[in-house]
Amino acid sequence: MKKEDCIFCKIAHGDIPSSTIYEDDDFRIILDLGPATRGHALILPKSHYADLFELPQDMAGRVMMLAQKTASVMRDKLSCDGFNLVQNNGESAGQTVFHFHMHLIPRYENDGQNILWKPGSASGEELDIVRKQITE
Ligand code: AMP
Ligand code: ZN
Repeated sequence: MKKEDCIFCKIAHGDIPSSTIYEDDDFRIILDLGPATRGHALILPKSHYADLFELPQDMAGRVMMLAQKTASVMRDKLSCDGFNLVQNNGESAGQTVFHFHMHLIPRYENDGQNILWKPGSASGEELDIVRKQITE
């Protein structure tokens, strides 16, 4: 997809209106239009990177710093009980908009959401094979 057609590029640059809760030269943080919970927000870099693998390392660091800062503000202002940081890469991982973004999801007791995975199982032998595949 061309960057000119990217909806998050347009939102990040202010060409499409959004509920912006933070903006600087390189990032915009907006409220998600289909919120998982009250306050669900998205950190968008203003430059187009499709996903985590395209994101430069220094930007990755800044995303995490922004996430921490914003989560702290939300905890104070929205009185949430918990917080999920979610970041999807690729269709199989649930990514639907192919412009890097980090989900900031405040959590509340009994909010009815389930953002955790279903645990599987693996033998020691299987873990060893995977460990070797990654590290060798
Ligand atoms: P993902 O599945 O990780 O790619 O997340 C995409 C997110 O973007 C979803 O949570 C959508 O609700 C959200 N979204 C899509 N379009 C817009 C928009 N125009 N404004 C705000 N959020 C949006
Ligand atoms: Zn984009």
